[in-house]
Amino acid sequence: MTVKGSCHCGATQFTLEKAPETVTRCTCSICSKRGALWAYYTPDQIVFDPANDPAKDSEYRWQSRMVGLHFCNGCGCTTYNVSPSWVDYKPDFDHPQIAINARLLEGFDLDAVPVQVLDGRNLW
Ligand SMILES: [Zn+2]
Repeated sequence: MTVKGSCHCGATQFTLEKAPETVTRCTCSICSKRGALWAYYTPDQIVFDPANDPAKDSEYRWQSRMVGLHFCNGCGCTTYNVSPSWVDYKPDFDHPQIAINARLLEGFDLDAVPVQVLDGRNLW
């Protein structure tokens, strides 16, 4: 079953092919400040609404600059990250993954799925 999500002002809206079965809380310096719970998808599993306002979709990069941390500059919500997938501890730029902020999902019970902790504080 598909699940829809949106930032607070609605400038970024998307539909996921399926609901997440788990979500990830990352302890790295930026994720812990942003407070997102991540659900990981391949780009073909997400449809961004063609009516989204691209001017409201901002991106922040830090450290290795390999991950694009997207946020809505209209309402300030953390929306999604785009990164290479990781294979044998190396980035695979041919196979990007998208981490959706599961807190933006609508009609989805976040408390019903387990939260996995990713030790980003020590990993990068
Ligand atoms: Zn917004």
